[in-house]
Amino acid sequence: MLKAGIVGLPNVGKSTLFNAITKADVLAANYPFATIEPNVGVVLVQDERLNELAKIVNPQRILPTTFEFTDIAGLVKGASKGEGLGNQFLSHIREVDAICHVVRCFEDENITHVSNKIDPVGDLETIKMELYLADLDQIERRIPRLAKMLKQNDRDAQIEHDVLNRIKTAIENDIDPKTLDISEEENKLIANYHLLSLKPSIYVANVADFELSDPNSNKHYLDLLEYAKKDNTIVIPISAQLEMEIAHLGYEDQLMFLEEYGIKESGLNKLIKEAYNLLGLRTYFTAGEKEVRAWTFINGMKAPQCAGIIHTDFEKGFIAAETISYDDLIAAGSRQKAKELGKVRIEGKEYIVKDGDILNFRFNV
Ligand code: GDP
Repeated sequence: MLKAGIVGLPNVGKSTLFNAITKADVLAANYPFATIEPNVGVVLVQDERLNELAKIVNPQRILPTTFEFTDIAGLVKGASKGEGLGNQFLSHIREVDAICHVVRCFEDENITHVSNKIDPVGDLETIKMELYLADLDQIERRIPRLAKMLKQNDRDAQIEHDVLNRIKTAIENDIDPKTLDISEEENKLIANYHLLSLKPSIYVANVADFELSDPNSNKHYLDLLEYAKKDNTIVIPISAQLEMEIAHLGYEDQLMFLEEYGIKESGLNKLIKEAYNLLGLRTYFTAGEKEVRAWTFINGMKAPQCAGIIHTDFEKGFIAAETISYDDLIAAGSRQKAKELGKVRIEGKEYIVKDGDILNFRFNV
């Protein structure tokens, strides 16, 4: 399952946000991974297409796709040098697919800030610097080894060497490596390093609840927006404390509560949606009598990889994917009719799965 990691300096509101996430409506009983680690929270991604599919298929149950948030506490200045529990935390970040940077924009004299002032941009730079240094460390250890391989005219080594050098130069010049144009071939060669600086990111601005209806009234938030423009990253204002307070309420009650603060949607919902979309996540469906279910995949994934999201055996033994697009199935009104209209395709290993595809995998066990 895809995971986003929540990172940030101490006392910015990470745990508060995380607790709100874990209290939210997770249908634990329906999910095989109900027993997960305490620092992992599962959220549901609402998608109205599931209900439309259910009208056609009449399944016993409907399962929305999920998204996992991991609370990665303990990142402090010096982590890349092993300060605090440094390297251990950095290795946790390597495992996530996306990073949510939580920064503190709220003022509260009772809650200390590690550097004694509210400075979201400075905080963000501290954290990003740790991630960058950790990557540099890895890259610098790898490059001399690659240099040796270059002498043997190893083409892959040449490509890897060049792309790692480009990333290194970017970091050294304070350029976000995410803005580099890295080809699919290059990405494959460096995938094993799980470089932190290349992970898609979102900035979460933890503001005071009374600022939610007009976050621009918060100077720190404005600073953060300005900074985020430079590295093309989205900023989501959220009040972790408010999210925590409303997490246990039902959906309707939440809306009523939020109305009092002059907002229409919980920040957490926005965060889930934005995280999903902006991180290039897409949804495919499986639809049978037992269940209609949504699955998250990354834009560009091929059919076998998508099968692997359900089970690694599906990927290993992949033969083909019986495929129909959501629009075609809805237009046809039934799978049978869609078949008659020639809308059911058999796709092979190279098929790039599209958002809304309804897939039925054939595989060897
Ligand atoms: P973490 O170290 O980043 O996980 O931070 P916590 O979530 O433990 O929060 C640190 C402190 O800030 C706690 O006492 C929270 O209750 C408080 N806090 C978190 N979010 C807010 C907020 O939006 N407003 C205010 N005033 N306090 C908050």
